Amino acid sequence: MFLIIGQGLAGALLAHALRQRGAPVTVLDAAGGSASRIASGAINPVLGARLHRAANLATFLPAALRIYRGLEEELGTPLVHELSALWLHGTAEEATHFVLRAAADPELLEADVSTADIEAAFRLRYGAGRVAPLYRIAVGAMLDALRERLVAAGALREEAFDFAQLKMDSDGGVIYDGMRASGLIFCEGASAVHNPFFSALPWAPAAGEALLLSVSGLPRGAVYKFGGHTLSPWPDGEDAWWFGASYRWDTLEPAPTAAFRGAAEAALASWLTLPYRITNHRAGVRPSTVDRKAFVGLHPVHPRIGLLNGLGSKGVLTAPFLAENFAAHLTEGTPLMPEADIARYRRVLLRAG
Ligand SMILES: Cc1cc2nc3c(=O)[nH]c(=O)nc-3n(C[C@H](O)[C@H](O)[C@H](O)COP(=O)(O)OP(=O)(O)OC[C@H]3O[C@@H](n4cnc5c(N)ncnc54)[C@H](O)[C@@H]3O)c2cc1C
Repeated sequence: MFLIIGQGLAGALLAHALRQRGAPVTVLDAAGGSASRIASGAINPVLGARLHRAANLATFLPAALRIYRGLEEELGTPLVHELSALWLHGTAEEATHFVLRAAADPELLEADVSTADIEAAFRLRYGAGRVAPLYRIAVGAMLDALRERLVAAGALREEAFDFAQLKMDSDGGVIYDGMRASGLIFCEGASAVHNPFFSALPWAPAAGEALLLSVSGLPRGAVYKFGGHTLSPWPDGEDAWWFGASYRWDTLEPAPTAAFRGAAEAALASWLTLPYRITNHRAGVRPSTVDRKAFVGLHPVHPRIGLLNGLGSKGVLTAPFLAENFAAHLTEGTPLMPEADIARYRRVLLRAG
């Protein structure tokens, strides 16, 4: 049995991949604090304003679509929504950069798209470009459905993991609260900075805030990008939208701030011509890392203890492949993706014990 700590994207998809291989799991998940439930759920093929392809897109994207579509069928819930991203240029430089990137990557980017259909909703300045396809995954619905299945199998405990109760078995296994596990895998998101086994890894957790809005009349086939923000369809109804997000590296316990709300309202007032209402304001922490790559693997000193973490701001794209890759490693001994393997920090982990 594998004991998994956390049921965000990492823990839920790892539990699923292990169960698919016939390996039993028990998942412990503490209430609240999941970045996965705050994320807009976007799989954006390009990165930020530079518009370069996300690293390892050709590996991560096909696996993500195969796994989410498989889950969609298995769980009977629509999960994958294909959209495009409309980049509304705020300056002549942004527009020029988009044209250059579109010439370099015409498969994903199209410059100077017709804006007739969006002019009713936005105050346009330097036109727009399109990135497509972009996918939005209904992460909350997927986590709920996977959680229900774990509950039905008696494999989910809604509680925080208590390190004081962990014991090592004489044959190298782990014992926790009377349970004997062949592996203990931490998928705790940003709280891993406090994990005594893995706190020495170079974490760079990034807090972020987002608003939930009600906007009627905005076409739902696209995500709109303007002024450094993203306005994305949200699954709570025809008028529900997600608007975000900020980045802050100075807190692990973020609360919604007036500063973010003010900046968001200013951006909306400047761009959106349709009336809107704020229905919610949320904050969470991305489990980011200094080298911007995930942390996956087993501890060099405690080889029954591992983690799947460090998904940063790309967890929706990367978690399915990494969970499957790690499940195969744990059950069949196949190699881990080298870029994600924590073996790159072996010396750091050995020094920390
Ligand atoms: C504002 C914002 C917007 C984002 N938008 C996107 C996006 O559009 N696309 C994208 O790909 N990514 C996005 N992200 C990043 C994405 O949310 C993360 O990459 C991903 O959710 C990380 O998943 P995780 O499972 O590692 O962590 P989490 O989702 O944080 O899950 C960790 C789980 O572990 C539990 N836990 C922690 N400690 C313990 C313990 N001791 N005992 C028991 N349970 C514990 C927590 O309660 C939680 O349920 C966004 C993040 C933020 C903050």
